[in-house]
Amino acid sequence: MAEFGASFIPNMVVARCRDGQWGELSLKPTEAMPMHPAAHVLHYGSECFEGLKAYRSPNGGAHLFRPDRHVARMRASAEHLLLPSPPTTMLEESLRVMVREAGDAIPDYPGSLYLRPCLLGLDPNIGSAGKPSQGAIYFVLASPVGDYFAGGVRPLRLLIDDENMRATPGFGQVKTGGNYAAALRHIQRARRNHNADQVLFCPGGDVQETGAANFLLIRGNELITKRLDGTILPGITRDSLLQLARDAGLTVTERDFTVDELLEAAPHGEAALSGTAAVLTPVGTLIHGSQEITVGDGNSGPWMTRLREALGSIQSGHGADPHGWRVSV
Ligand SMILES: *Cc1c(COP(=O)(O)O)cnc(C)c1O
Repeated sequence: MAEFGASFIPNMVVARCRDGQWGELSLKPTEAMPMHPAAHVLHYGSECFEGLKAYRSPNGGAHLFRPDRHVARMRASAEHLLLPSPPTTMLEESLRVMVREAGDAIPDYPGSLYLRPCLLGLDPNIGSAGKPSQGAIYFVLASPVGDYFAGGVRPLRLLIDDENMRATPGFGQVKTGGNYAAALRHIQRARRNHNADQVLFCPGGDVQETGAANFLLIRGNELITKRLDGTILPGITRDSLLQLARDAGLTVTERDFTVDELLEAAPHGEAALSGTAAVLTPVGTLIHGSQEITVGDGNSGPWMTRLREALGSIQSGHGADPHGWRVSV
């Protein structure tokens, strides 16, 4: 399997919006597309995206994981950016088209087909910094991906950054390239200076999330994670894991918590990152200033292992689907 995200199925589904009116979905080759050099997205960052997975079902068909939630979040992101929002029915249909188009290219579980819906503002006018783009393009890339954990689950090293913000308050809930651009230099510095895998953004001591995944802490029988206050991305994996944690008898608390609280809980607790790509990846080490704190025994703890398996059994199609998260295509 090629590197994650760098190989695509031959076609993508595309729709154009002109003067606020969406046209039909159509299939086009996944290749360079013409765009005016003054396009709004290239200058003013009018862009949002989604990331979700389709799985090959044990009975031979294929299913998507919670596509309704991804569609709703795409529309919320578009509205925050004042981009023309594609209708719900069109977004849902675009995902089905791509899964059918991929056909046999969907790998067997634990592989999957990663879908990347994108929306870009296209108005060709560099004078429109303060105006929303009326023209837009929507497309969905599809990339077959292998087992993220091939070679075993490796616990991550996270640098706690208690100064910088990943995103501006209120915009952290929007899945837009600008937030990634803003976080990149902090992540690079953490890699270079601390051999860290990711940065846990904790501005002013408020534990938020990493550059592309939500952060979950377990202490005793309680799962603690930042509340959805606009600073963090409302992860669909996060939401699913919170539900599975409640099902398993954990107390789930969505609230603000501090770096001090985290560092105190870490040695006898569990921590992990959640997101579509990595599902639930254990955090083995927290780096804070000149200190390195081992989380639990440094490996995936019993609760996180159990939650990852519970989610995997639903996503793979092998287990029951008590919450109706699988949608057959
Ligand atoms: C996409 C994303 C997540 C994870 O969301 P999922 O819906 O679980 O994939 C978390 N944080 C950020 C910043 C993200 O962009």
